[in-house]
Amino acid sequence: MVTLEKIELKNFKSFKKLSLDVPKGFTAIVGPNGSGKSNIVDAILFVLGKTSAKKLRANRFSGLITYHNGKRADFAEVCLYFSNENNAFNVNAERVGILRRIKSSGETDYYLIWKENDKEKRKKMAKHEIIDLFRRLGLLGDNVISQGDLLKIINISPIERRKIIDEISGISEFDEKKKKAEEE
Ligand code: ATP
Ligand code: MG
Repeated sequence: MVTLEKIELKNFKSFKKLSLDVPKGFTAIVGPNGSGKSNIVDAILFVLGKTSAKKLRANRFSGLITYHNGKRADFAEVCLYFSNENNAFNVNAERVGILRRIKSSGETDYYLIWKENDKEKRKKMAKHEIIDLFRRLGLLGDNVISQGDLLKIINISPIERRKIIDEISGISEFDEKKKKAEEE
């Protein structure tokens, strides 16, 4: 399994430039309200292929690009660097980056980034190649619980919450089977 080692942002939302090492194990990002914690999660989801601006908490896709002093930057880039375990990326490097770039038109492109003989290599990837790669690496970004979701789970009734836990753990399936058997 590949692991996330580093996140780099350029002109993404509130960050002009950010480089963040992700150490092995459990990572927490702390900071005051509005300091950009959720923006970092949005950046990760942006690379993992979210196609809806709303899911990334922006009105339109180009809204993801830094807006500062009444001006929007020309582009934004987010790069996620992963360990190249078992040569999962099929390139000769220990660490490989998946970079998604967005222009002010809202158009986005994907690149693979790695170092060979100390030189940075960049390969543009077609959409279907990136989808194949994500599928192969198991990087689907669908196991993210966002800020609002957690509050929803806290505020629902215990019965509703139990239903969700049963669903996730696979118990619901047996409840249904039991009910059917009792009816027969
Ligand atoms: P909380 O603790 O309240 O959840 P947070 O640390 O998660 O806060 P974020 O929601 O990540 O904070 O950051 C919100 C900030 O990002 C706001 O100040 C908002 O103005 C800023 N922001 C969002 N999009 C852009 C953009 N395109 N350009 C500049 N700033 C932006
Ligand atoms: Mg937040």
